[in-house]
Parts: sequence; structure tokens; C-alpha cells
Amino acid sequence: MRDWLHHIPAVHELQGHEQFPILMEEMDVDFTKLTQQIKDALNLARASILNGSWHGAIPGSDEFIYEIFQLVKSSTAKQLDYTLKRVINATGTILHTNLGRARLSDKAVLHVLEIAQNYSNLEYKLLEGERGSRHSHVESLIKELTGAEAAMVVNNNAAAVYLVLRALASGKEVIVSRGQLVEIGGSFRISSIMEESGARLVEVGTTNKTHLYDYEQAMSQETAIVMKVHTSNFKMIGFTESINTHELIQFTQRFENVIFYEDLGSGALYDLQKVGIGEEPVVRDIIDAGADIVTFSGDKLLGGPQAGIIAGKKKLIDCLKKHQLARVVRVDKMTLAALEGTLIDYVRGEQGVKSIPAIRDLCQSVDVLESRSAHFIGKLLGLSSDYQARTVSGTSQVGGGTMPEVEIPTVIIALKHRLFTAEQLAKKLRADTQPAIVARIQKDEYLIDLRTVSIEEEDLLLKALLQL
Ligand SMILES: *Cc1c(COP(=O)(O)O)cnc(C)c1O
Repeated sequence: MRDWLHHIPAVHELQGHEQFPILMEEMDVDFTKLTQQIKDALNLARASILNGSWHGAIPGSDEFIYEIFQLVKSSTAKQLDYTLKRVINATGTILHTNLGRARLSDKAVLHVLEIAQNYSNLEYKLLEGERGSRHSHVESLIKELTGAEAAMVVNNNAAAVYLVLRALASGKEVIVSRGQLVEIGGSFRISSIMEESGARLVEVGTTNKTHLYDYEQAMSQETAIVMKVHTSNFKMIGFTESINTHELIQFTQRFENVIFYEDLGSGALYDLQKVGIGEEPVVRDIIDAGADIVTFSGDKLLGGPQAGIIAGKKKLIDCLKKHQLARVVRVDKMTLAALEGTLIDYVRGEQGVKSIPAIRDLCQSVDVLESRSAHFIGKLLGLSSDYQARTVSGTSQVGGGTMPEVEIPTVIIALKHRLFTAEQLAKKLRADTQPAIVARIQKDEYLIDLRTVSIEEEDLLLKALLQL
């Protein structure tokens, strides 16, 4: 074995080997990086020889050198591979938080690309040639789409809630119904955010019932905000009662200097009730009803990038923009570009809205899914005898903690493989294919819902299924 160690080639020998420049070119790395990788591989081989776990070729042979270069190649490829990878979402859950929530529209993506690759007027007024504000870029679009007097954008909706409470209610009281003290996604609790913000939470009512007189009794000199949390992530059923937004706004307006604030969570700009999906209020209606301030996410039903949108009365928004914390939670230019692209899709009207993937996928009809699924199965069975496939009716979910009670009728492709169980098939499609595919499993069938698979992705999906 000592002899083996003596025959391990020196680094400079491998640097002079014909494979060295070939690998440098193939892996697109420089001389120093490849040299480091070779040193690491040789050290690994040396350690393996010493502890008796080396099962490769004998040092001194051409095969040994070949194996070292193979080792270098695979370890370098692994290091240069992204861990954040594209996934085909075949689960049918549109705003799947684990899979990145909303995918962006073409317009949003192209705008991000241009703004990210170049300088921009992010904080610069081109007409005047003076310093400008990054808030200005999407503000007028949000005003146009919601009817609000003013608006600003922060990093996400959790940050928006925090900024509102911190800037407008720190050291004061915020009244919230007990039935709305929700936890979202296992990590976002209104009560905890409230505590962090320095605002004092005044809970009113019981879990299932809150009356107007509960709010009335809680009102004091210390009250800064009456807050409503849109409980989009769970539904209470049975013996429940809560005050609707209109009543609560009218009530709040009786008190001077008390703000009505609703955290809408999802914040729909497009009326999905119109197409028979859920009961999510549109932001404009809440603003029209007289809400002083609302907050909502950019990447839930809106279908844009991760962002928190704050809209409402100009006096309050101005105060938020000036707050120190606004700098801490500010959005970057790529987010603003993505949001601007998405909002312009909304302004364009019905056709534009349907170019936003989240909305398009939500609105896809069962008929279309039926024919896409049948076509897909036809292709798959025509090219492979490894599968059994059938279509079954099922449901898709909105996801992202939005409208969990809503089940959207869909068509499912249920697959069985000749050799693999559904679990094995799922694992292979997640780990061994590129892009990875994530779908559902039920009773040893692999379930594909094409609702969240775009037409362009169908071929990739087919290819992955055929490759196994
Ligand atoms: C989702 C949600 C949030 C958090 O929004 P993020 O954009 O994920 O930070 C806050 N409030 C409500 C009511 C929500 O539904």
C-alpha cells in the first residue's frame, strides 16, 4: 500500500496531461479551479487507499489517472449545478408555496431581464434629471387597479403587516377579532407580528362569534387601529358570526383618528367569483367601502413576484414611506420590474389578465383539460408499452393558503408503470429527470393534473416519462 501511495501522480503531472485543457473547456472553469479540484480528488484517493476503501485502479496505471479525471469531472459538475432548480408542477395546486407560488407572465419576465441586465431609472427622474423614488414606479398602476389614493410595495405581505402596525400603532392598541388571529403557513402569526411591532393587541369576541358591541366595548383613547384579517387560509363553518367589512368600516369611521386596516392576504385584483371560483373579495371593493389601508401579497392570487402591497389613504401611505423601517423592508428592482409587468397585464384587460399563468391556470376549463389529458395519454401509450393510463375526474387546489375550502373540478391522468410502484415512479421523476416533476400519488397510481402544466411543458413531461 505504501508503494501505491508512492505511485500517486503529482499535481503538475496531471496539469500537463492532455485531459486537463479538455476538462477546463468542458466544465468552463479556470486553471486554478481545476487544479484545486485535482488536489481534492488526489487527497480523496490517498485517504481511501490508506483506510482500505479504495476499489479503483492501481496508482501508476493509466486507468488510475483516468479515474482521477472522472472524479474531478463529477465533483466539479456537482459543485457547479444549481440547487434551485426548475420543477414541473403536475400537482394541480396553482400557488404551491413549496414550489415557488406564482409563475410570472412573459411580460413580467422580459421586463425583469431588461431591468436586471441594465441600468434603470429606479430612483431617478428622467425628465428633471433629479433623484426620484422607487415607490413611484408601480404606485400609479396600483392606484388605477384598486382605486386607492396611494400605494407602496415592500418585500412581502408579512413585512407589509409589520410596517403598518409598527408605523401606525406602536405603543397603541389594535383591536382584532379572536376568530381572525390566524397562523399562516405555520410561521406567520398576526399575534406574534403584533408583539414584534410594539402594538398592543386587544382581542375581542370569541373564536366563533364577534359582535359589533365587542368592538364598541374595546374602543379606548389608546385605540389606533381596528384591524380585520382576511382569513383566506381557513374556513370556519357552523355556528359562527363575524362583522362584515362594510359594517366594521362604518363603525370605525365614527371614531376620529382610528384607522380601519384590513390584511387581505391574497388580494385578488381579478374577480374570480365571476368565474365561479371561491368568494375572495377584490381589493377595489374593500377600498371603495372606505378602508383606510389594506395589505396583500404579490405572489398569491395576484400572480406576480413575492411582494407586499400596501394601498390606502395618501396621508397614511406617506407616513409609511417616510418610516425608517421602509428602508429595511424595501423591494429590489427585479421585484418592481416583475410587479410592473404583471400589473400592466391587468391594465390591458381580460386578454392581459389571462396571460398571467396563475389566473390562466385557475380559469382553465374542465373541457380543455379533458381534451389535453386524452391527447397526452394517446401520445404516451402510442410511444411506450410500460404504462397504463386513464383519466379520472378530481379537484385542483388554489394553494398558498388561499381558499383551502375551494375545490376546482379538474381532470387527472392516473398512471401505472409496468415495473415501478407509484412511489418509485414519483421518486425517479423528482430526482432523476430534468426538469424535476412533482405530482400526487393515490392508491398506487401516479396522478398528473395538467392544470398547472403549461402546453410547452407537456413535451418535457412526456419525454421524462418515456426516459425511465
Ligand atoms: C399569506 C398571508 C400573509 C403573508 O403574506 P406573504 O406574502 O407570504 O408574506 C399575511 N396575511 C394573510 C392574511 C395571508 O393570507
